[in-house]
Amino acid sequence: MQKNPRILQFLKSLKFRLILLVIVIAIVPGTVLSIGILHSYHLRAISLRQSQVLSQAKILTNQISTSQYMDNDSQNYKTIQAQMDMLTTVYDGRVILVDNAFRIVYDTYNIDFHKTIISEEVIKSFSGQEIINYDPENNYIEMTLPIVNPDDPSRTVLGVLLMSVSTDNIELNMEYLQRIAIIISMTVIVLLLFGGVMLILYLLRPLRRLSDEIAAIETGYGDYRLQVNDYTETIRICEKFNTLLARMKVMDDSRQEFVSNVSHELKTPLTSIKVLADSINSMPDAPKELYQEFMGDITNEIERETKIVNDLLSLVRMDKSAADLNIETVNINELLEQILKRLQPIADRQKVELVLETFRPISAEVDEVKLTLAVTNLIENAIKYNKTDGEGWVHVTLNADHQYFYLKVEDSGIGIPEESLEHIYERFYRVDKSHSREIGGTGLGLAITRSCILMHRGAIKVYSVLGEGTTFDVRIPLNYIT
Ligand code: ADP
Repeated sequence: MQKNPRILQFLKSLKFRLILLVIVIAIVPGTVLSIGILHSYHLRAISLRQSQVLSQAKILTNQISTSQYMDNDSQNYKTIQAQMDMLTTVYDGRVILVDNAFRIVYDTYNIDFHKTIISEEVIKSFSGQEIINYDPENNYIEMTLPIVNPDDPSRTVLGVLLMSVSTDNIELNMEYLQRIAIIISMTVIVLLLFGGVMLILYLLRPLRRLSDEIAAIETGYGDYRLQVNDYTETIRICEKFNTLLARMKVMDDSRQEFVSNVSHELKTPLTSIKVLADSINSMPDAPKELYQEFMGDITNEIERETKIVNDLLSLVRMDKSAADLNIETVNINELLEQILKRLQPIADRQKVELVLETFRPISAEVDEVKLTLAVTNLIENAIKYNKTDGEGWVHVTLNADHQYFYLKVEDSGIGIPEESLEHIYERFYRVDKSHSREIGGTGLGLAITRSCILMHRGAIKVYSVLGEGTTFDVRIPLNYIT
């Protein structure tokens, strides 16, 4: 059988659970309370009846013993019998008097006269015990009392008084009280349920408003702010939601900015190529040298476009999850030597001295390809943004402790203005756009480097003095932390 999703939804709702709670809170204490009160009332009524009857019975046994009733020579014979009859009427019971030969000498029911009665209770009472029993099934209290002359020092038991009284009127009272208790608790339960459900619906209203407001915000990150100030909880949810909204807006803005930057960067070389090609086309009789020069420029623009696309691809790869890292144990000293060897021709062209200083052999768990790209970007920048008068230098230092290896790339270059330091890792950010473009920069290099270092759970810091030089400090764990 298929369950209705709306019913399922209702069963899972907070509303339903709170209503259940109200039902339990309304029914359980009311029921327990009325059962408890009725039960203790019943116990109390029975014990009260017992003590009343017992004191009456004791008075009677005293009178019987002092009046020598058992010896059949009492002058108060009639009085005592009348008292026994009266007790029978008042308590709706029966009184039986037994002499020391176990013979019934008086029975207010007049049934068992002169019969012999030998029961456990009677025997026990002849040994001096008072026995009181309550029979809840048949609704009566039964007591057996010894008749002893108080003046007799040997306390001989002269006979036994058996008395049974009905508790029917107590039970009738109980039934009446039970009916009243049921009516009162039903009324209280209905009132509580009604009041409870109304209260729940009222209390849950802010949550409904919260979800309505979230639904209204839907996908737009505009200047929406969630505001439901009814409870501390809703205020907190709104605060968290608004923070999340603000972060999503920042991400959306940066995504849009990135897309527009990418299109702009990709369009620039294409525009140049189009202008160059159109110019050649409009000059059919141009000399061969001019053609060659234009074609050379077109090739440069194509190379630039290729570099931007390659850098973008590297960046996308770096932005992916750390699961894409190809971690292996790599000799960092050798890796640096290879990078410097590859960059040496560029340094020579720029007349920049390139020096590597390593303090110890270091092996670390890294992604060799990605780390090579990151370090190459740093050293290439140090060469590119350097002096070209033959005075320029780049010092690369490698050191390690038991936990990290440290890479320092120091240059004597043009430096970075202080206000630009916090932006240099942003995609497409360049301090001097035209200079960077001239020397083939895309503005993506440091973004790639930083992503790669963060993927390795490392850190990068920059120190720079304009006109004097820049230092990049990199720290990467020797063992890859998953
Ligand atoms: P680009 O491809 O333009 O070099 P990067 O992301 O590698 O892009 O660097 C961003 C900007 O930071 C560069 O355009 C440059 O202005 C500045 N920069 C980076 N490294 C250095 C450095 N060693 N010395 C001076 N400026 C630097």
